[in-house]
Amino acid sequence: MKDVPAIKTLLSSPKKIVITTHANPDGDALGSSLGLFLFLKKHGHQVDVITPTSYPDFLTWMKGNQDVIVNKDSTFSGISKKMAGAEVIFCLDFSGLKRINNLGPLVAKSKAKKILIDHHLDPEDFADYSLWNTKSSATAELVFDFIEGLGGQKDIDKDIAECLYAGIMTDTGSFKHPSTSAKTHRVVAELMDAGANINKVNRTIYDTNSLNRLRFIGYALMEKLVVLDKVKAAYFVITAEEHERFHLKSGDTEGLVNYALSIKDIELAAIIMEREDEIKLSFRSVGDRAVNTFAAEHFEGGGHKNAAGGHSQDTLENTVEKFKRLIESQ
Ligand code: 5GP
Ligand code: MN
Repeated sequence: MKDVPAIKTLLSSPKKIVITTHANPDGDALGSSLGLFLFLKKHGHQVDVITPTSYPDFLTWMKGNQDVIVNKDSTFSGISKKMAGAEVIFCLDFSGLKRINNLGPLVAKSKAKKILIDHHLDPEDFADYSLWNTKSSATAELVFDFIEGLGGQKDIDKDIAECLYAGIMTDTGSFKHPSTSAKTHRVVAELMDAGANINKVNRTIYDTNSLNRLRFIGYALMEKLVVLDKVKAAYFVITAEEHERFHLKSGDTEGLVNYALSIKDIELAAIIMEREDEIKLSFRSVGDRAVNTFAAEHFEGGGHKNAAGGHSQDTLENTVEKFKRLIESQ
């Protein structure tokens, strides 16, 4: 938080601000972005939230969602102008510009002051200021610290509190992951005091399954779960055809990997998904078995020690073979 005084000075007069976050935004990406958005708007700044891709419906309840600019062919040129004209760009919940797809070059060449707020490992050196702490449970927790550091805690209203709470709740796996600290709970207590309805947030995020998604989970558990007992690993492979068949939408496969990790004695779980343009891999682990280095070394990815992801341009078959070979020789 050492850069907070300089950022406070920077924000002491109204600015044109862009907030962006990683592709396929999750609860923390969107919650931290919209929480910060609502706070900065209260302080008279002109703010846009720009996401590299769309995000799941279970996040659209957040206040400010209507104003989010989602990157697609039809919005890209407007986004380019906003990035070029911004005086300040906040980069939330990612540490490398590759994670924002084709927005990366726009951020890189913008003359705006860039501020990174993030908890992933190994940040790239592209920001002017950074509030970066890998021990933080969520970027939303860092946004809370940042607002507090600016002396703005009194401005955290119910809407901001619920966005930040959603970020912390989802990134900690509902306060189960080792990243959950006593301080995380203290921050949550403050958010509840500010009016966050935690029951509403929880139900809206976790208990709004479509029947398609539930049927898909049942099918995946029954037919697609592969367990490699000897190496304490379990994984799913989901094809493009299955995506179609179950009418899966963005976010519908989220959480599936945790079922594989919940099997007794399993230490590493993965889901390998065939997407239109590439193969996407998600990894989860327990204890000291690091998946971020595994993802970085073999699948052009990264993330946290116990939750990481990557991708591959190879065929689904070859990617699965490679994954199996690597896991079995670990
Ligand atoms: P998920 O499996 O939920 O997509 O991602 C888990 C974690 O891994 C996230 O914190 C995310 O930042 C990271 N991650 C996922 N995909 C990639 C990727 O392609 N590259 C990098 N560097 N990190 C990723
Ligand atoms: Mn996060």
